[in-house]
Amino acid sequence: METTEMGSTVMETTEMETTEMETEPIAVAVSPDSALNIGGQSARQLVEQFGSPLYVYDAEVIRQHYQRLANAFSGVPHRLLYACKANNNVAVIKFIHQLGAGIDAVSANEVELAFRCGVPASQILFTPNCVAFSEVEYAAERGVLVNIDNISVLERFGQKYGGSKPCAIRINPHILAGGNAHIQTGHIDSKFGISIHQMRHILRIVSAYQMNVVGLHMHTGSEILDAQTFVTGAEILFDAAFQFPDLQFLDFGSGFKVPYKPDDIATDVESLGETMTARFREFCAEYGRELELWFEPGKFLVSASGYLLVTATVLKQTPSCVFIGTDSGLNHLIRPMLYDSYHGIINADQLQGTERIYTVVGCICETDTFGVDRRLVEAQEGTILALKNAGAYGYAMSSNYNLRARPAEVLMLNGRPHLIRRRETLEDMMRLQVEVLG
Ligand SMILES: *Cc1c(COP(=O)(O)O)cnc(C)c1O
Repeated sequence: METTEMGSTVMETTEMETTEMETEPIAVAVSPDSALNIGGQSARQLVEQFGSPLYVYDAEVIRQHYQRLANAFSGVPHRLLYACKANNNVAVIKFIHQLGAGIDAVSANEVELAFRCGVPASQILFTPNCVAFSEVEYAAERGVLVNIDNISVLERFGQKYGGSKPCAIRINPHILAGGNAHIQTGHIDSKFGISIHQMRHILRIVSAYQMNVVGLHMHTGSEILDAQTFVTGAEILFDAAFQFPDLQFLDFGSGFKVPYKPDDIATDVESLGETMTARFREFCAEYGRELELWFEPGKFLVSASGYLLVTATVLKQTPSCVFIGTDSGLNHLIRPMLYDSYHGIINADQLQGTERIYTVVGCICETDTFGVDRRLVEAQEGTILALKNAGAYGYAMSSNYNLRARPAEVLMLNGRPHLIRRRETLEDMMRLQVEVLG
């Protein structure tokens, strides 16, 4: 069946651009007040205007999350650096930068992107892992602070720059934070950071090359479950800090837990702010100077702002369940298949009504499940479904597997939709291929 479908599409098409696959909105009776509204527009209006599937971000939700974090840490000099790998759309980066955040970049290209978004070098932190030294040089030579995450890199940095360029050091404190095994980054086998147990080695290098270490960093995993446990982990960094007299900041990475399921525990940022502020002040007094407290939130800022709107293409009743097949899949949102993560799914046309149990799947020729046995307001072929928490690691991890175009992206700003990335075309997808057989 897939072959016929794909075959006929290609046969009927004369020009490449026209194969841009976008599900035609099917007329479904929708009452506007019972439909999903994102920042002032209904999901259906957005799909009618921009096509399906579609990523939509609500700028107001991003602003509220930013403000919540900034308020929680307002008692100490602090800096928030947006980990832009979560969502690298230029409009999103600029919006968050205008709110006051700097950028945490993990590749030379992300550093370059931050520059293009108007972020000055002084507000960019480069936190790469296992990259070639040339990327470290690229950032350092543009005045971007590098978070060094390996002994050999520390040594090369020292040899090359001595104390002429400041640097920060990423410490692996070996804390097992919660979350999925793929996103725990602090434990003993982790490839991230320089082990806290190698402190003597670090100090020998720093002193041999008279390096200027201005920051210590840790990013332990993905989830801060309670403030006290987090502060216990932070003590490792406070302890280490006394070995470095020239510090300007301590960077505690991220780990702000975002609720995906209705009963998920989210990080209580207010309580974290209170506990950390008190402890950080105490530490600064002992250290003898006021330092800055840094965090690098990614998903906390953007996850809840985003929806992936998809269209139900088929309803398939099997002996065991009812599938809703959609015009999207793991090519657009891979988190459920990659991390077994839960994304809320709702009938965006009808928020209230008779509910049924569905398994929602994508159209990729792989096991491609968005959600199993989900309770949804009764859907039909043509119904628009919304996948929630799609603002982080959604589009950023998407692909064009199965030669399917990536969706467009829309930012809702002051009640109006703005197209911030156009839908991919077959032409876009073929652009890098080089034909040799005529
Ligand atoms: C990915 C990453 C973050 C952001 O993590 P979230 O869970 O999205 O908040 C922060 N710092 C570093 C170094 C990262 O690699």
